[in-house]
Amino acid sequence: MKKAEDQNALKNRFQASLLGGAIGDALGYTVEFMAITEIYAKFGANGITDVQPDGRTGMVLISDDTQMTLFTADGLLWALSKVEEPVNMKEVLFTADGLYPSYLRWYNTQQGIMPTERHQKLMDKQPHEHTFSLLDQPGLFARRAPGNTCISTLASGLMGTMENPLNQSKGCGGVMRVAPIGLLLHERPDHAFRVAAEAAAVTHGHASGYLAAGAFAAIVAELVNEKEICEGVETALGLLKSYRYHEETSKAIERAVNFAKNSERHETAIIELGEGWVAEEALAIGIYCAMKRKDFKAALIMAVNHSGDSDSTGAITGTLLGAYGGMDVIPDEWKTAIELNEVIMTMGLKLVQSLNKFD
Ligand SMILES: [Mg+2]
Repeated sequence: MKKAEDQNALKNRFQASLLGGAIGDALGYTVEFMAITEIYAKFGANGITDVQPDGRTGMVLISDDTQMTLFTADGLLWALSKVEEPVNMKEVLFTADGLYPSYLRWYNTQQGIMPTERHQKLMDKQPHEHTFSLLDQPGLFARRAPGNTCISTLASGLMGTMENPLNQSKGCGGVMRVAPIGLLLHERPDHAFRVAAEAAAVTHGHASGYLAAGAFAAIVAELVNEKEICEGVETALGLLKSYRYHEETSKAIERAVNFAKNSERHETAIIELGEGWVAEEALAIGIYCAMKRKDFKAALIMAVNHSGDSDSTGAITGTLLGAYGGMDVIPDEWKTAIELNEVIMTMGLKLVQSLNKFD
């Protein structure tokens, strides 16, 4: 059992990481499919600098990045609920087998069906949701540009793994959803890496698609451990090197670190790092923005104002800075504006409470 003050400190970082990611996702979602010239034309010379409330609900809309992140958290809680006794953190509990059912649940929220009849029972209430279930949140059934690779692989009814990939996709749909794994397994960044890579490989079979996810979770874990962002990145790079085919992801991260350390214009640096549609580029842009500007708002504005996959690069940056700085760094007006903010806070709390299952 964690001491109360430890638990409070962890709660702060867990919730800020999830909420920070959601805010970055929401800020970027407004401009996800816009070229930078279109963004400037619509929002002015500084680009988009504030969240945009939806005309119908008045709330700021999150996208599939946050929805899938919440279902990753659901999968972790589900897997842990099957454990009777407190378990040693040294054991890796949450293989992709444990997360796959929750990704199928997400698929159902988007498509209204399961891949096969036998999967339908996964929508039933489970032991981990006696008091609260994501499936009771109508907002999570909204379609917000779900990624094609996630939809098509989950539709197949097959689960990809690192050893048996279903495709050669390295879209950023694997990396953008794994933050909860880094939060929960923070005491073991190496385990967080492996589990997150497996979780991404469920849908994304290219090594860069799943290794970027592993690296992201390892950095999140280290930020929960009160490390500096550059230290978290170093841990991730060290872990990456023990995996086959890591070179592309390692190189993307190393370039992000180098750009962040020099004084190049950030617009130029981000263009050099790519557009973020693929996993290692999205992670590299997220790392760059979080390292370059530790101020939450400035970093997110930088992370979404480019021609690429703005919601995912915003989500990754917001996740990192939330885990790093806690709730105090997030502007209050953004905390309250975000759709499903209470659901996000609840899932953060539930993840912290579930730590008591560990020795
Ligand atoms: Mg999205």
